[in-house]
Amino acid sequence: MISSVLPSYSRANLRFIKGEGVWLFSEGGQKYLDMGGGIAVNCLGHANPHLTQALKDQASNLWHTSNLYHIPNQEKLADNLVQSTFADTVFFTNSGTESMECAIKMARKFHHSNNNLEKTEIITFENSFHGRSLAMISAAGSEKLIKGFEPILSGFLQIEFNNIEKLLKAISPSTAAIVLEPIQGEGGIITAHPNFLAEVKKICVEKDILLILDEIQCGVGRTGTLFAYEQHNITPDIMAIAKGIGGGFPLGACLATERAAKGMGPGTHGSTYGGNPLACAVGNAVMEIVNNQEFLNSVKDKSLLLKQKLAYLLDKHSNIFEEIRGVGLMMGIKCKIPNIEFVNAGFEKGILTVPGGENTIRLLPPLNISNEEINFAIDMLDKCASDFKVKEG
Ligand SMILES: *Cc1c(COP(=O)(O)O)cnc(C)c1O
Repeated sequence: MISSVLPSYSRANLRFIKGEGVWLFSEGGQKYLDMGGGIAVNCLGHANPHLTQALKDQASNLWHTSNLYHIPNQEKLADNLVQSTFADTVFFTNSGTESMECAIKMARKFHHSNNNLEKTEIITFENSFHGRSLAMISAAGSEKLIKGFEPILSGFLQIEFNNIEKLLKAISPSTAAIVLEPIQGEGGIITAHPNFLAEVKKICVEKDILLILDEIQCGVGRTGTLFAYEQHNITPDIMAIAKGIGGGFPLGACLATERAAKGMGPGTHGSTYGGNPLACAVGNAVMEIVNNQEFLNSVKDKSLLLKQKLAYLLDKHSNIFEEIRGVGLMMGIKCKIPNIEFVNAGFEKGILTVPGGENTIRLLPPLNISNEEINFAIDMLDKCASDFKVKEG
């Protein structure tokens, strides 16, 4: 029998009805440690009291007005993002895909408004992920995303990640922008080499190309700095964010310098819900907690603990695990067994992890996870891995 819900996801047989911090509770009353965090979305855990209060307060005052009017919450969040980043201006959206759409449109419009009409091509990288719209599957260009949905959009060119020579060869007078994830998330937690981002930036400046970062997964404190680019000593021209900024409420944003945004005047872009009062109330509440040096330092400390413990697991279960990688609380474990088997074994033990590319499992827990909960997660992963040994032996 066909499901009432379009079966475009192959879903685990789990139904959650309540959450609290890093914990989820299923219909059947079982308790799960959520190390996936809704794929890096629930950055402050489930039912966070500060976020819940902000949403409740806003909900009893005003839900929606449209962007025909100024929205005080939206202006406050934009000011905060501008003060805390490279950006001078912010466009709000409801998702990562939409933030990327705005980024690409803005880059094309920038060159158009400079009368550089040939500059339309966007360079992206293999193994990247930027969303599921037609433009964003065209951007990532992977067979898996585009098969059967052709014709895809022209104007995107994918080259090998972390390879400057190939990038230089691919650049032409028609290159408008280079788009990259500082840490590829869906691709399997693959970090841009520190020099790579610096060199890409240099090339962009020299050749009048805009640098667009996709920090939809790695942004908002995930890597121990507010945004990942800060650790590469560069700034982008445009940056797409989403996921963590809403803490579970649909919210995204496209941040830009005044220069890069010069073409985006009245009537050039829009969104009915983008930057809606409810979403921005939550976004402000997220920033109140995450945009704080002490909090960000605590993410770094937890990352250190998690990395040390994962190194121990790698050592102990070298027949199951191949490599540990990642930054902050965005960690990947490359597996020797099929990753999905390990994720499923976790479900049985009561721990949620997320499969990623290159046969990895991803750990993207809430940023306020406690040391105790990290130790608990490691114990559970340890037990899962030990069970595999028994099966094999
Ligand atoms: C999740 C994600 C997207 C897409 O975001 P949606 O909210 O699903 O549209 C784009 N880029 C990256 C890096 C992501 O992790």
